Amino acid sequence: MTRPQLAAGDRLVVKVGTSSLVGPKGEPDAARLGTLCDGIAATHAAGIEVVLVSSGAIAAGLAPLGLQSRPPDIPSLQAAAAVGQGRLFRLYNQSLEEHGLTAAQLLLTRYDFMHRQQYLNARNTVDRLLALGVVPIVNENDTIAVDEIRFGDNDRLAALTANLARAKLLLLLTDAEGVHASDPRKDPNAPLLSEVQRITPELERAAGGRGSEFSLGGMASKLAAAWVATFSGVGVVVANSAAPDVVTRCCAGEEIGTFFFPHDRKASARRLWIAFGQPPRGTVTVDEGARKAVVEGKRSLLPAGVTGVQGTFDSGDVVDVSVSGGRPFARGLVRYGSEELVAAQGRSTAELAHGEVIHRDQLIVLED
Ligand code: GLU
Repeated sequence: MTRPQLAAGDRLVVKVGTSSLVGPKGEPDAARLGTLCDGIAATHAAGIEVVLVSSGAIAAGLAPLGLQSRPPDIPSLQAAAAVGQGRLFRLYNQSLEEHGLTAAQLLLTRYDFMHRQQYLNARNTVDRLLALGVVPIVNENDTIAVDEIRFGDNDRLAALTANLARAKLLLLLTDAEGVHASDPRKDPNAPLLSEVQRITPELERAAGGRGSEFSLGGMASKLAAAWVATFSGVGVVVANSAAPDVVTRCCAGEEIGTFFFPHDRKASARRLWIAFGQPPRGTVTVDEGARKAVVEGKRSLLPAGVTGVQGTFDSGDVVDVSVSGGRPFARGLVRYGSEELVAAQGRSTAELAHGEVIHRDQLIVLED
């Protein structure tokens, strides 16, 4: 298999983080931003529709507030982002205008993907902007959400945006060359992976695991985003933002950074929305018979197969489904609250008011 080449009409989502945009003083660097916009303009000129997901609002807000460094508390960071977002956008707008392009600002949160109507509204706006030849520029709405400030999670927002835009490729630009076989901070000789067919637990561990120090906007966050995007049928490249012509070379299918192959089956938008629109609130553990019925038999999950319940959730929330000690193999909208489910587990459906734990139409299998 070779990497895809993007053609006119294909869609690309490019995500760039603060560290790839700022100069030595920590302020957005017009030259770096300009180089990125050159790449976007060249891609746009080839008929490829581009959506940019950019951080950098906090960085752009520091100097106007007379701050030398990032303030320590979240409200001050949010304030800096609110001051900086307009300035950041102005820089992009100026730079893209030099190429005759128009930019649009979209401030989203992961929670906008949790409400079906808001998701559809955002999708309609993105579709229309792209049809009008505009370059949408997305950032987290830091005024009301602090996912990125806390977790460096614009990667995940970018993956959800790639799903929303039905992109062919998601390009995650970073300050590393790509993804290495083990943590390059601990092992400087760790080889760069050119291709990843499937994200394995080993690779996740090598990237430092979720929630570790290294994962703050680092490789674990890239892997989590790549997982979401590839599952949505979107190929992902993680590459160095400083590599010359990185955007156009990735679109041409050149071997640069690390490429994650997309899953070839396409899930319906509704199922993807179940799987990735909202963070799972808990995990339902089931026995092997129930796993087989769900994965191979494509059946609903019944209370009889449930062996355990983790987390606190309500009816209608998204939960993961796993066998004891295993990775989640499915995700779906649960019909029972966690307390009710504890009482119902192991019992036959006929005895129970709600019937299935997760109906098969509201369930997505995460395994291949
Ligand atoms: N979304 C914020 C920004 O654009 C957060 C980035 C950060 O935490 O540095 O600046």
